[in-house]
Amino acid sequence: MNLRARYFDGVRPQGRDVDLEIESDSISGRSMESSEELFVWLRKDLRRDLNSRVIPLLYSNTAGDARLEVGISFKGLESYLPELVPQRPGIFENVPRVWLIGGASTVLIVVGLVLSLNVIVHQVARKIPFSWEKKYLGHISEGPPFEYCSVTADAQAALDKILGSIYPTYPSDQQFDLRLGVVDISHSNAFALPGGKMAFTKGFVKSAPNPDWLVAVLSHEIAHVEYRHVTAQLIEMAVLQSIANLFSAGEASLGSSLFHGLVASRFSRHAEREADIRGIERLHKSNLRSRGLAEFLKKEDPRIPKFLSHFSSHPEKDERIAYLTERSGDETSYKSLEIPESEWHALKKICDP
Ligand SMILES: [Zn+2]
Repeated sequence: MNLRARYFDGVRPQGRDVDLEIESDSISGRSMESSEELFVWLRKDLRRDLNSRVIPLLYSNTAGDARLEVGISFKGLESYLPELVPQRPGIFENVPRVWLIGGASTVLIVVGLVLSLNVIVHQVARKIPFSWEKKYLGHISEGPPFEYCSVTADAQAALDKILGSIYPTYPSDQQFDLRLGVVDISHSNAFALPGGKMAFTKGFVKSAPNPDWLVAVLSHEIAHVEYRHVTAQLIEMAVLQSIANLFSAGEASLGSSLFHGLVASRFSRHAEREADIRGIERLHKSNLRSRGLAEFLKKEDPRIPKFLSHFSSHPEKDERIAYLTERSGDETSYKSLEIPESEWHALKKICDP
């Protein structure tokens, strides 16, 4: 391919017009006046003056100050000599290699940690003594909105019967102790909170058609305590938050953000299934019907804000109802929980002004 160019030999100030011949591995210039070959440069030695914005200027690494002014646009030059297209620096070009490797390894370790965190914390949580959980994590759910409503003697008797009918049931129940109360929240729900604190919401107590609903949902919540799901979730959130703080240098109060995280987040699908199965086992062991949990799930208000419900927020709710119903089986040989009428009525009025 031939092009016009002006060749400066680096010694004489005036240039000479040349016919430029571009071969696969070299470029050469023949004087238009004398046909003398003035230079042959290897393409691998070519260098482009990136500061030249008007006409392309080329040098050879082996030809000193000699230069070529090529009579062609920059785009045109690049189509003949594509190796001269300036490379835009990559984002990581100026980062030392060792930093890149170190940074990538850190990201991999953090991602790996986060991915396996759920499994690790559930194993660790089951090894933590319940007394430790109560002492160090129990305070997280003290105070509003998780302050228990005050209760009349009759309402307390009803709560005692509900909890007492299914706990303690197993010898291992001696390892933890539970407190049950009602919190002044209108949405229908129940919670297991750190340190063995169990709570029905006012909305749930008022909407439950019979004690079977309350005891079945409570049995599910007890399983969350028994299997240390609450502890595991707190550890997981604390670790995630610490990682986040490392990167953001944030100084949010850990206790308060943990509490909000606990309320906002839900247990994993695996943990819910474990709690459902154990909840049914506990009820049957106590000779009680378990179908209240599936009935509660079916009736649950879908408008409940996600952050308040670890029941409704499961996308697999229908599937869950199906296996709960199947696992509960034919419950004709099990009883419904009996609570004297006066105590049931007192419980229904709980948290009323
Ligand atoms: Zn649950």
